[in-house]
Amino acid sequence: MQVELIALTQYLRGNGTPEALLEHAGRVCYRSESRGDPAKFLRARLQEGHESLIEHASATFEISGISRACSHQLVRHRIASYSQESQRYVDASDPALVVPDAIAADPHAREVWDGFVEQVKSAYRELRELGILKEDARFVLPNAAATRIIVTMNFRELRHFFRLRITPEAQWEIRRMATKMLELLAPHAPTIFGDLLDELRARHPEFFV
Ligand SMILES: Cc1cc2nc3c(=O)[nH]c(=O)nc-3n(C[C@H](O)[C@H](O)[C@H](O)COP(=O)(O)OP(=O)(O)OC[C@H]3O[C@@H](n4cnc5c(N)ncnc54)[C@H](O)[C@@H]3O)c2cc1C
Repeated sequence: MQVELIALTQYLRGNGTPEALLEHAGRVCYRSESRGDPAKFLRARLQEGHESLIEHASATFEISGISRACSHQLVRHRIASYSQESQRYVDASDPALVVPDAIAADPHAREVWDGFVEQVKSAYRELRELGILKEDARFVLPNAAATRIIVTMNFRELRHFFRLRITPEAQWEIRRMATKMLELLAPHAPTIFGDLLDELRARHPEFFV
């Protein structure tokens, strides 16, 4: 799995950081321009539940090598924008597949897996040779098929997403992905994500290895 932070809101005034924009948005509400400590001001707004102001900043990630099982969970988050590699237009004769650790570590399970993968590949190729379009041949592809997706979420949705997906209840792959996203983003917006990173890391150190 590769996760890259590829874009971040830039404020066209002052120091240009997304947090400077969020502070400005908050200060407009109270007509309190340039008074007080920015981080303290933003934390106070979050604590009182004034969260809409952090919707003004967003981050874009490019994620590849995750399974379609994982991307399906990701796109359930509705307050976001997505662009995903298409199985209608991209050939999948030799598809990259994500193998769960539990299967990779068990020789018998691995044997079952390898046999299945060979069947999938030959079925896809045979269907294509029969003139079946990629959009129909893809129906034999499994949830394991690796995908590439670009996701943009605003900071409010990202905090919500991290809280839901960096927990023991979340499935391992989306948890791993969300953890990487938070680790990449926190240094760029430490007031909005630093405390969350510290809190989750203290609660579940095993997720942050
Ligand atoms: C551990 C876990 C197990 C899960 N298991 C399943 C499962 O078995 N089956 C399944 O179908 N899904 C499952 N889900 C997905 C889950 O139900 C949500 O669809 C997904 O997590 C997206 O989160 P969300 O709905 O909070 O928010 P988002 O889509 O990220 O939206 C953010 C917030 O906006 C608000 N919002 C967005 N849209 C609406 C709306 N239409 N009406 C009112 N408020 C809205 C809500 O407050 C929401 O929390 C699971 C999720 C987790 C974390």
